[in-house]
Amino acid sequence: MPTLEDYRDLVGADTVEELHLLGRRLEGKSVLNVNATAVGGGVAEILSRMVPLLRQLGVDARWEVIKGGEDFHAATKRFHNALHGAAATVTPRDYEVYEVTLQENLAALSLEAGIVFIHDPQPAGLVRERKALGNKWIWRCHIDLSRPDPEVWEFFRAYVKQYDACVFSAPSFARSLEVPQMLIAPSIDPLSDKNRELTPEETGAILERLRIPTDKPIVTQVSRFDRLKDPAGVIEAFRMANASASARLLLVGGPADDDPEGAQVLAEVQERTKGDEDILVLCLPPTSHLEINAIQRASTIILQKSLREGFGLTVTEALWKGKPVIAGAVGGLPLQISHKCSGVLTHSIEGTAYWLRHLLNEPAYAAWLGANGREGVRQHFLLTRQLRDYLLLFAFLESGERDFIHLAGEAVHKGTR
Ligand code: UDP
Repeated sequence: MPTLEDYRDLVGADTVEELHLLGRRLEGKSVLNVNATAVGGGVAEILSRMVPLLRQLGVDARWEVIKGGEDFHAATKRFHNALHGAAATVTPRDYEVYEVTLQENLAALSLEAGIVFIHDPQPAGLVRERKALGNKWIWRCHIDLSRPDPEVWEFFRAYVKQYDACVFSAPSFARSLEVPQMLIAPSIDPLSDKNRELTPEETGAILERLRIPTDKPIVTQVSRFDRLKDPAGVIEAFRMANASASARLLLVGGPADDDPEGAQVLAEVQERTKGDEDILVLCLPPTSHLEINAIQRASTIILQKSLREGFGLTVTEALWKGKPVIAGAVGGLPLQISHKCSGVLTHSIEGTAYWLRHLLNEPAYAAWLGANGREGVRQHFLLTRQLRDYLLLFAFLESGERDFIHLAGEAVHKGTR
């Protein structure tokens, strides 16, 4: 694991100094993160990098994962889809399973910490213990809550309003709530195996080991096998574009412990692409960080044709590698891509096919988009920025102030009620 000092060259001395200043303010304070999976998906990706850095700064940071059976994960996946505004058939039994499972987790978990930092809806209901514990609670929502199913949102809202603060990734995701809301975008770690620089030799060796041919330009989508990532739309757009371009599509995914639909969606994707030599479907273990890094680096174009998306770390990862990205204009993706400047945003399969053809035929323009994309990530979406935002939020809660945090005699405005 890198030390904070290792980030100095990339993000500047001021940023690192500021983190130390905030860290001193929070030294010894305990922060317990809770989410639903240790591997797979963006939340686990961020926590695995964030928690060690918080500890380096002196914050007593921990990370726990709630446990649940198949019926719990099936229910919470339906809640997830419904909160994202996608069609989902939530049943009354889903709510019962949720309540019972959280009660079991409450009995098993120690939630003794100055701040309990709950990630996403799955563990949101643990907050029922807040009054008894008398500590501070933050709900960090990683999904696009702009058009939630009203019934499912009402159920979660009853929990969310018990928190001391909520964090959303984008202004449009925030809801009308009685608690203070912060906007904090996710981030990637430029020094992780997923994102660190690789030599062409390292990249080549990994592609050879994975038996990925490099005789044609590679177009890639990296995503859990999830319908909201629209793998069927990706295949159709690629086939439309590939009638006149000669490229290869890689659909790269892997399982997440809290996503029970993955195996079924993977089987559908395999069926749809059977016998097509220009499409490769790869299912990798969730720890394949170097492999994903190499695949992203070897790609000519990265797709993220999501139908709903909280933020889309895969896009941040690709932009950081200077890749031209074509992404659906949904959820958090427009936060990262300014259309025709730092990537391309599309609204349809036809639009995605059009831009695929265009970028495959215009490598200089594609490279310009990629370079702009990388600069955008450097400025806004590296881990150190998110670490600073989280530290400010912790300091805000610890201070007991309503509107300001006082740091070394200076007032840093951090939100109002
Ligand atoms: N990821 C991975 N292996 C896979 C698919 C995805 O390691 O097979 C990683 C991907 O590189 C990214 C994260 O999982 O870091 C996905 O985060 P994102 O925000 O794109 O989507 P989510 O899965 O959280 O909806």
